Amino acid sequence: MASLVTPEIESLTPYEAGKPIEEVARELGLSDIIKLASNENPLGPSPRAMQAVRAALSEGHRYPDAAAFRLRERLAAFHGVEMDEVIQGNGSNEILELLIRTFTTRDDHVVFAEPAFVVYKLASLAHGVPFTAVPTKDWTHDLPAMAAAVRPNTKLMFIANPNNPTGTHVGREALSNLLQELPPEVIVVLDEAYIQYVSAEDYADGLTLRGLRERLVLTRTFSKIYGLASLRVGYAIGPKALINYMNRVRAPFNVGSLGQAAAIAALEDAEHVERSVRENAQERARLLAALPEFGFETAPSQCNFVFCGVKRPARELFNALLQRGVIIRPVGPEHVRITVGTPRENDRLLSALKEELGGRP
Ligand SMILES: *Cc1c(COP(=O)(O)O)cnc(C)c1O
Repeated sequence: MASLVTPEIESLTPYEAGKPIEEVARELGLSDIIKLASNENPLGPSPRAMQAVRAALSEGHRYPDAAAFRLRERLAAFHGVEMDEVIQGNGSNEILELLIRTFTTRDDHVVFAEPAFVVYKLASLAHGVPFTAVPTKDWTHDLPAMAAAVRPNTKLMFIANPNNPTGTHVGREALSNLLQELPPEVIVVLDEAYIQYVSAEDYADGLTLRGLRERLVLTRTFSKIYGLASLRVGYAIGPKALINYMNRVRAPFNVGSLGQAAAIAALEDAEHVERSVRENAQERARLLAALPEFGFETAPSQCNFVFCGVKRPARELFNALLQRGVIIRPVGPEHVRITVGTPRENDRLLSALKEELGGRP
């Protein structure tokens, strides 16, 4: 019999998410477990967002607003763009996949970096779209090499700025050059999931680059700094024509009412965002200073996580920390990604490392 699925789908394995805290606790008989594996905001959701969710629950029997009218209206005002330049997604994850589904076929080609956010590769494989994964240079997107990988049939290029899992960013000048040099057919997607955490002076918010290129799409999420990962809300900003095509392919009720309500409230809670940025910056600096004392090599992070070469099998370190109730994320044979936690959580991480490896902190 013919294969039920394409060779690409055959080659995939289901996404392995970080283990839920409850499951690890049960397995190990531990009560106090900290999760530094999924780049969630350790401060939790904005209290205003929680209140909005409670209020929205009583309308739980109604289908959500399929057009996410209020949310897109607020996002448009917040960013100074037009409403029909904004599309909502079930997390920005769905937006990334929607870009592939809407704009590419098996005859096209996609370019992204490696290591970068895994969804670019997963979605390309799932839809059978050929791709080139361009190695990073010093753990940073190698934009000239990515430009050189473009072919006549290249339709999409994904750039995570800053990048996950490496935490690094590309600066305004290199990015501007790329946006102007690429053939006009290529849709460039700037994935800005961590934009609020960036402190680098040479960073360019994609909104300020839209004039440089017609086919430029920015993606953002409520899962990271806004602390709403479980509610699955993301969005894209792009030219109306592209957003319109994506809306034709999008499932009608792709973002639930609770998510829409929470996102609107979270967007208005500037104080929660500011506090999250401030505490992350302090603790990120502390981890970047402390981790090298264990012989680890860190990449310069603009995010709420740190990418670390640990010079031993990453799985072993992961398992050793897991036994001590600290969940991190192995992301390569000898590399891990550690989310910046609260001061207390980072204390726990550092003392678990000290117990495990010896060393000063
Ligand atoms: C976390 C993340 C996303 C998306 O997360 P959603 O929860 O689907 O919005 C997108 N891009 C990058 C680089 C991320 O790290």
